Amino acid sequence: MSTPLFDQWRSRSPHYDDTHEAVADSVRAFVTREIMPHVDAWEAAGELPRDLHRKAAEAGLIGLGYPVEYGGSGEDFDIFHSLVQSEEMCRPGAGGIPASLLTHGIGLPPILAMGSDELKQRIAPQVLAGEAIICLGITEPGGGSDVANLRTKAERKGDHYVVNGAKTLITSGMRADYITLAVRTGDPGLGGVSLLLVETERDGISRTRLDKMGWHASDTATIHFDNVEVPVENLIGPENQGFGGIMRNFNGERMGMAQQAAAYSRVCFEDALDWARERETFGRPLVTRQAIRHKLARMLQMINATQSMIDHAGWTIKHDCAVPGDFALLKVQATQTMEYCAREACQILGGASFVRGSRVERIYREVRVMAIGGGSEEIMYDLASRQFQF
Ligand SMILES: Cc1cc2nc3c(=O)[nH]c(=O)nc-3n(C[C@H](O)[C@H](O)[C@H](O)COP(=O)(O)OP(=O)(O)OC[C@H]3O[C@@H](n4cnc5c(N)ncnc54)[C@H](O)[C@@H]3O)c2cc1C
Repeated sequence: MSTPLFDQWRSRSPHYDDTHEAVADSVRAFVTREIMPHVDAWEAAGELPRDLHRKAAEAGLIGLGYPVEYGGSGEDFDIFHSLVQSEEMCRPGAGGIPASLLTHGIGLPPILAMGSDELKQRIAPQVLAGEAIICLGITEPGGGSDVANLRTKAERKGDHYVVNGAKTLITSGMRADYITLAVRTGDPGLGGVSLLLVETERDGISRTRLDKMGWHASDTATIHFDNVEVPVENLIGPENQGFGGIMRNFNGERMGMAQQAAAYSRVCFEDALDWARERETFGRPLVTRQAIRHKLARMLQMINATQSMIDHAGWTIKHDCAVPGDFALLKVQATQTMEYCAREACQILGGASFVRGSRVERIYREVRVMAIGGGSEEIMYDLASRQFQF
């Protein structure tokens, strides 16, 4: 597989230097050695081996950007190092792998941002060492977009909460040791929502595996809570103030998903270009046809526009002036780019794109989860439009 363009764009960007290339080199070496040879097997198995988490931690992938005191790499790294890592993790074109290997990227930040020192010490080192898997539970069978109206209830009884309800579509949900769980502890609406750390070994928890259109290497679950007792020490931040934490967490998730969508778009571009150079129809390579060249040019146009938005959003994070609506629009831009590139790459590959197992075929099946998961397109436009006056 040739990769002529995958990361050349960084050398022409003011946001990336040799330190980012060093991260790229080390992640690429890990992906080539530990992931690429196993993609088909893990897609068939429906989950990643636990050992991969330990290996990824040893290679520095799990702890990148997290505090040293909990086993992370420390703060010498900026948001652009994380983006480089996301990009490289997407090179196999199998979205379930980074989604599931890195679920701590959505499960752990609320604990580090809002949790007690005791909770941070208890959970973060195990997760960052790849010894424990943590997931995030927001979405419920009754709906995921309307977070303020979630129904899973945690009722305080003495020194513990009793949790009842269900979460669905939870990434890494079958294998997770911990779940950062959004629960209702108070009145209806966003002012009655809290975050609670729940050990998945507790009595009253059961899990059901979900079969999906894509992200096959990622285990996805519905998790049921039936009178599950959770100690009050596991509350993440103050009671009834979880909604703000959930919303802040979404910004990081949307930024990561945007970079992944840009990377998958680049994979589509690369594989389509390779194919168009090699495939001859009516006596000439496909790439000599204007209809095909224009598809490729438009793919690149959209990828470049998306990367510029991502880099600008990264700059606003680095300079502490980020605006939530920008992350919402960024996610839409990036996933629409991925949708376009996946479609056009399939057209260029023709029938070969329909045969199971290629990067383009997988990415085509993974467009919808990127456009819906972590906040759907409609909800992203709603969120962004709330920032201006009608
Ligand atoms: C593979 C996968 C992994 C996931 N992993 C996780 C995870 O780890 N943790 C987690 O908590 N969740 C996870 N999700 C859930 C995801 O975040 C939700 O699917 C998403 O938030 C949308 O919620 P929903 O599917 O319940 O759709 P709904 O909220 O029921 O909405 C259905 C459709 O209606 C649209 N819609 C809703 N309200 C409006 C409105 N007011 N106006 C216009 N349109 C509207 C939505 O955009 C959507 O297209 C995952 C999803 C997938 C597919």
